[in-house]
Amino acid sequence: MIRFEQVTKRYPDGTTAVDGLSFEVAEGELVTLVGPSGCGKTTTMMMVNRLIEPTSGRILLDGEDIMRADPVTLRRRIGYVIQQVGLFPHRTVLDNTATVPALLGWKRGRARERAAELLDLVGLDPKTYGPRYPHQLSGGQRQRVGVARALAADPPVLLMDEPFGAVDPVVREQLQDEFLRMQATVRKTVLLVTHDIEEAVRLGDRIAVYGQGRIEQYDTPGAVLGTPASAYVAGFVGADRGLKRLSVTAIERGDLEQPPVVRMDETGQRAAARMRAQRARWAVVLDADGDLHGWVGLEELDTADAVSTLAHRMNAWVPVGAPLKQAFGVMLQHDAGWVAVLDGSRFLGVLTPAKLHEALRRSVDADAQGVARGQVDFDSVSDA
Ligand code: ADP
Ligand code: MG
Repeated sequence: MIRFEQVTKRYPDGTTAVDGLSFEVAEGELVTLVGPSGCGKTTTMMMVNRLIEPTSGRILLDGEDIMRADPVTLRRRIGYVIQQVGLFPHRTVLDNTATVPALLGWKRGRARERAAELLDLVGLDPKTYGPRYPHQLSGGQRQRVGVARALAADPPVLLMDEPFGAVDPVVREQLQDEFLRMQATVRKTVLLVTHDIEEAVRLGDRIAVYGQGRIEQYDTPGAVLGTPASAYVAGFVGADRGLKRLSVTAIERGDLEQPPVVRMDETGQRAAARMRAQRARWAVVLDADGDLHGWVGLEELDTADAVSTLAHRMNAWVPVGAPLKQAFGVMLQHDAGWVAVLDGSRFLGVLTPAKLHEALRRSVDADAQGVARGQVDFDSVSDA
């Protein structure tokens, strides 16, 4: 969808901001550009919508050289979100959001309808916030309006330059979560700049780690954290990269163990007999549909009562697909030796510390084999 081929940008004063940059972003992919201040991230971004023009090299959007495109038409296909948001202070939130559709000549009613939909999408009730002015919003809310406005003309591509940089850490995490939820539905091709490795790892399908004017590694978060390409990248991602990897590795069904299971409608004695045969001290209690009801300990079962009346509520659970970090957090919080993993309310199995460790190793092995996915072969390009 977006392809950089040997792109260099030299500013008139001689500064080389970007040097021979080659990478590709697939359609619907969210790529984060991360690196220290001044390494060329913003320059990279602004060349995509031609706010800055490359000194040499080519940028292709959907196969078309952007230098051949009409800049105005080009920018309609590209939403742009910046840290300072740049909302019009004397226009309401609704009108700010409707700016682009209005520029595109949409009828006023339709533009406002679209703006209301988008405010809803970014988690702002249009009835409450639509009539307000930007100064009547919090920083986080203003940032959401910026995102809504960038999406207004439904562009396939979204450029975001430090979009969550100006808000406090708690709001920031909230905005990141909401953005990921939104991205799961709208599936834009996104380039997002950040100087924060945590943010890059959390949001990116892939991350480009920048050194001075060039990309040092371009790969999945798991691979960058698991197998940094150089000492520079290892230093940039931090000594706690093993811990960070917990938050980008999802729990899979294959990671789970199957503990002893008893049914809600059996008697305690019957369940106890079966558990003794398996030498189990506790069991998971499921209902007839395989949904999780709770858990019981062996010593509580020597009665004719139904298991359903004896079971304890199970608080230590996570949904399948959640990051390992979440499972680890739940284990610590409930002081539990394992957590139940559910698909909806259906019980799939439990994750133990040993399995968690295995899953973490699996993620590194898989990423090491999958490195080719993140590489682009430009030799064929220069011949063409
Ligand atoms: P980042 O976004 O990663 O902080 P930038 O792309 O803004 O980095 O800048 C990369 C380099 O280019 C920096 O050294 C910066 O000072 C320089 N630079 C940016 N804009 C200009 C400009 N208009 N003229 C000269 N140098 C510039
Ligand atoms: Mg910048």
